[in-house]
Amino acid sequence: MSNTLKKVYIETLGCQMNKSDSERIYGILSNFNYVPCANENEADLCIVNTCSIRKLSEDKAYSKLGVWGKLKKEKSLKIGICGCVAQQEGEKLLKRFPYVDLVFGTQNIYELPELIDKKTRVCAIREKPVAESDFNIIRTKSLNAWLPIIEGCNNFCSYCVVPYTRGRERSRIPQVIINEAKNILKEGFKEITLLGQNVDSYGKDLAEKPTLAGLLREIELLEGDFRIRFTTSYPTDITDELIETVKNSKKICECFHIPMQSGSDRILKAMNRRYDRKTYGELVKKIRNNIKNVTITSDFIAGFPSETHQEFEMTLSAIDEFELDYSNTAAYSPRPNTPAAKWIEKYVDENEKKHRLAVLNEKVKQMSLKSNNKYVGCELEVLVENFKDGKFEGRTRNNKVVHFQGENTKIGDFVNVAIDKASTWCLFGVKK
Ligand code: SF4
Repeated sequence: MSNTLKKVYIETLGCQMNKSDSERIYGILSNFNYVPCANENEADLCIVNTCSIRKLSEDKAYSKLGVWGKLKKEKSLKIGICGCVAQQEGEKLLKRFPYVDLVFGTQNIYELPELIDKKTRVCAIREKPVAESDFNIIRTKSLNAWLPIIEGCNNFCSYCVVPYTRGRERSRIPQVIINEAKNILKEGFKEITLLGQNVDSYGKDLAEKPTLAGLLREIELLEGDFRIRFTTSYPTDITDELIETVKNSKKICECFHIPMQSGSDRILKAMNRRYDRKTYGELVKKIRNNIKNVTITSDFIAGFPSETHQEFEMTLSAIDEFELDYSNTAAYSPRPNTPAAKWIEKYVDENEKKHRLAVLNEKVKQMSLKSNNKYVGCELEVLVENFKDGKFEGRTRNNKVVHFQGENTKIGDFVNVAIDKASTWCLFGVKK
């Protein structure tokens, strides 16, 4: 690799795991004379880190490649594609997009410097996961650091590509994670989010059987004023030990992201989710009974194959019944290699799916406002993250966005804010 400094731009789509992978890519390339840049027009290397959870996201990646293909006619540019779509489609992408130089899978990130140096177009897709490694990471956010603790998934939900693109669950060893957490804190970060497709499965594949709860307690012991978060949880993997740990902690935030996906037991079964509505409801109740001011968020799919209107209504009623504070939503889209994609005769009509998604989004909006209204009149701790249009902006422990006014405040401070107003997506107040 040459010694001249080059610029790399990464467009990251999809989940936090992808964001974390992009930080790894920046980190690896920084050892090889690449610096991150915020503008694709200035870059020598453009990479799209893709997500294949939904068709929409896959299409977004392809359209980005199209834009860069045109840019390449005007200047010297290398174009790469990585992430879940690359893992899934491999060589086909080189054929389909003649201006793409580089296709690499989710387990090939560490090979990137060699791949970039190749004079020919290249596709590297490793099926087997790489061993535990400590890549240099360049974190792109200044206060919040992602820290992957487990990758992959063993659940095989019938609609999901993750077990095929990210492989089976692999936990990183606790000491490596703790050391990374120490470095994150040394760098001045104020929030660490432990990441995994199934973060609660942490440690099941390791000989010593460490748990997420144990890991959280160890990170809590590290010195400094900081918060800890974790995501994403699978409903049946949340243990009493974890709930107890969050309850007794000063640093772990009162937030659980627990995708439910559907309120109908029949659909949950068809999705190959290993719980029913009753079990999910009991879990939510247990968490709420134990942890004050906890936020519980979820994910839902509208129009899963064969979903009847009545079953869709059950999703709406579940959001109400369990008072879910916020939910991510998506219309079902078939993903390659997944069982549900083969149930073509059961697909819900496209317009009906769109309609259900719109109704679902309206329900989520109502619940978000209801949840936010609960905090009017309360005093909440806020981590100050931004200053915009004469107001500070930050997030509470339970992940509510707050806009507030206050003197002697700077980004990175923890401050108490008296909440005096709520809207659908945020809270407003004054620093105490
Ligand atoms: S739990 Fe299901 S939806 Fe989540 S990553 Fe695993 S297979 Fe996909």
